[in-house]
Amino acid sequence: MSKNHDLFEKAQQVIPGGVNSPVRAFKGVGGEPLFISHAKGAEMFDVEGNSYVDYIGSWGPMIAGHGNEAVLKAVHAAVDNGLSFGAPAPAEVTLAEKICQMIPSIDKVRMVNSGTEATMSAIRLARGFTGRNKIIKFEGCYHGHADSFLVKAGSGVLTLGIPGSPGVPDAVADLTLTVPFNDLDQLSELMKACGDDVAAIIVEPIAGNMNMIEPLPGYLQGMRDLCDEYGSVLIFDEVMTGFRVALGGAQAVYDITPDLTTFGKVIGGGLPVGAFGGREEIMNYIAPVGPVYQAGTLSGNPLAMAAGYAMMKEISVDGFYQDLAGKSERLIQGLQQAADDAGVTFSTRFIGGMFGLFFSEQPANSFDELTSEGEALYKKFFHEMLNRGVYLAPSAYEAGFISSKHDDALIDLTIKAAQESFKAL
Ligand SMILES: *Cc1c(COP(=O)(O)O)cnc(C)c1O
Repeated sequence: MSKNHDLFEKAQQVIPGGVNSPVRAFKGVGGEPLFISHAKGAEMFDVEGNSYVDYIGSWGPMIAGHGNEAVLKAVHAAVDNGLSFGAPAPAEVTLAEKICQMIPSIDKVRMVNSGTEATMSAIRLARGFTGRNKIIKFEGCYHGHADSFLVKAGSGVLTLGIPGSPGVPDAVADLTLTVPFNDLDQLSELMKACGDDVAAIIVEPIAGNMNMIEPLPGYLQGMRDLCDEYGSVLIFDEVMTGFRVALGGAQAVYDITPDLTTFGKVIGGGLPVGAFGGREEIMNYIAPVGPVYQAGTLSGNPLAMAAGYAMMKEISVDGFYQDLAGKSERLIQGLQQAADDAGVTFSTRFIGGMFGLFFSEQPANSFDELTSEGEALYKKFFHEMLNRGVYLAPSAYEAGFISSKHDDALIDLTIKAAQESFKAL
């Protein structure tokens, strides 16, 4: 009986499915999840002592590598000053100033404890600000697990193949309207029909919870224009893309200014942090300045703020994202070549430190273009790679993440594993 199997058996006795977040359970690829004992740089080590080149990076946060020295040092220093005060602390100001500086669309920012909190607070704010109830989201986009967003959602919801979720009242779900990603005509039609009731359009500007899907040229601008026309709030959910595809996030890549932006993942450097921010006029609707209530006992936690700030400094170094994109490119080109050599139909895309792998002629542009054949091939590929020491996302519906600690040797090891894995499909 292996240590891993033993742990998973025990975990299932006391934790639903043995995991604290569904995708981790490997249901999307089959088999048992690996219990990780520690991680360093670009590698994770399981309880059996195996090592893996890691391409999930805790689902994004580990952009500067596991156990990053600067982040660890900042956290260690903060620990000795006390773990939580429930009163304002200097580190909150430091991080907020840094965010406002890095992202021009953000005048003011509020810290929370997760991406889910950020998005659910952002739509409450948008509803309070506009006095409207409806929101629009896109098929296959994931915005955390709050009630309003579990309608045609991505990520684990897709992985488990559930269309919505029991427990979300129809009265709530009915206020969430959905259209396909990358179809501006359908969005325009929907806004024409009910734009005056739409508090917000919320979007992952680069969709990363249904593999990785880029916005077509003009799509985000079209969304911006529609929001201006109907007085709706444009929310970019950059929980994944923020500080991941570029220092300024997807809004910098496509040069679009949203009204509100949500963050998570990278912003906490590995500790539980989320944030939402944007135009001062809107942010001033939040309590205690304005009437929209939002709060948190551990929000702005000093350890989390210290980790976040150290992370922001790490990624602000000149050339960080160029270097990261270079690593992504080396990886992606190597994988493509390996697939071509093995005669496997395969395509890819990447921006900054985020990439998508597709078992199809072309990368998909919407959820509908993702195929079940592609999903089946991905499952096999995942296990072939895992057996060779490469840890890809345990689901065909997730993006891949690379870090500044993925050196040429580890990337080449990954490509070699892929050469064998594609041949084994
Ligand atoms: C991960 C994610 C969330 C949810 O963040 P949590 O910290 O898991 O609650 C929301 N939106 C997007 C785009 C995400 O990728």
